[in-house]
Amino acid sequence: MKAGIHPKYEKVTIKCVGCNTLIETRSTKGQNFSIDVCSHCHPFYTGRQKFVDSAGRIERFQQKWKIAEAKQKGKAEKAEKAETTEKAE
Ligand SMILES: [Zn+2]
Repeated sequence: MKAGIHPKYEKVTIKCVGCNTLIETRSTKGQNFSIDVCSHCHPFYTGRQKFVDSAGRIERFQQKWKIAEAKQKGKAEKAEKAETTEKAE
């Protein structure tokens, strides 16, 4: 091995934020670090659907969708009411 050109290959602990698994391995990164998903909790390995959503984006989208649906419902009801009143007249 030529001296002075190889990075240090040290023992590190990787923490999975998704399932709190600690993985001990070796890396040239030189420090412990965390990951969002690992082979213990990734849908490909578990076979179960799971959203990796650390920023709450899916929740926000669902909230938006609910509001939009409520508005649509409101419009539809108004239209129905308008039709029934028109028929009544
Ligand atoms: Zn994991």
